[in-house]
Amino acid sequence: MIRPVPLHGDMKAASRLDIQGAFRFGKPLFSWVRRAAAAGLRDSLDFAFPRSCLICGEGFGEGRWLCPACWRRVLESAEPAMHRDAEDFPYLAGEQYFDGLAACWEFNPDLEQIIHRIKYSGMEKLGRHLGGLAGRIFREAEISVARPDAVVPVPLHPVRRRERGYNQSERIAEGFAGIYGLPVRGDLIDRRRATKTQTGLTGEERQVNVSGAFRVRRPEAVRGLSLLVVDDVVTTGATLNACARALKEAGAGSVTGFALARPVLRKAGGPE
Ligand SMILES: [Zn+2]
Repeated sequence: MIRPVPLHGDMKAASRLDIQGAFRFGKPLFSWVRRAAAAGLRDSLDFAFPRSCLICGEGFGEGRWLCPACWRRVLESAEPAMHRDAEDFPYLAGEQYFDGLAACWEFNPDLEQIIHRIKYSGMEKLGRHLGGLAGRIFREAEISVARPDAVVPVPLHPVRRRERGYNQSERIAEGFAGIYGLPVRGDLIDRRRATKTQTGLTGEERQVNVSGAFRVRRPEAVRGLSLLVVDDVVTTGATLNACARALKEAGAGSVTGFALARPVLRKAGGPE
């Protein structure tokens, strides 16, 4: 996915062109435009020059990414919570390796839209902003995040990171950690194999899919540490659990997971 491109001079002019029209004659003006158009350039341009709210499309005078009304709705829908018991994760197959799992929102259409932009539209600064917002919400709600020694973003496989240009979980982790003055350690753990997307897999399949996907680089660097592992969303907990397992097996003292959004938990049945 393309990163937001700083636009200057001729590039600004190019951004005003009808992107489709520019290729009608098979001669793109700039090769980056062609690449970017394929990857959703319009989103990137909207990011470089935000003109309207990502959620409702209203033009806005102040505020970034969302109009004041949509920001208010996002804030009001926050439900910061820290879950510690297995029964809070009815979809997690197998043993639980994390000591707690915190999330700031339950999935709702606004959050889905924002997280999609963070992951697939190059809006890495929006990721940092949401991470910071979540940190402030947790602090104001006086929910302890276990006083970690460091915040660890769930790593992307290097190939996917290259495609995307950044790791969205790292941006979220930076925002969150900044509120508490904690260090972000992206160097502790690697994703050693590319995993299939978790979308559409059952809890058990997700567990198998990510099992063994993570490797602690130097076990002596995590021994005895209390760590907060950050992902963009938690669905079944399989990814955070696999990270926690690798860190625990390398000697970490405690591992807590954190994500912006968690599924809507229904006590009796499960997701509908
Ligand atoms: Zn709006």
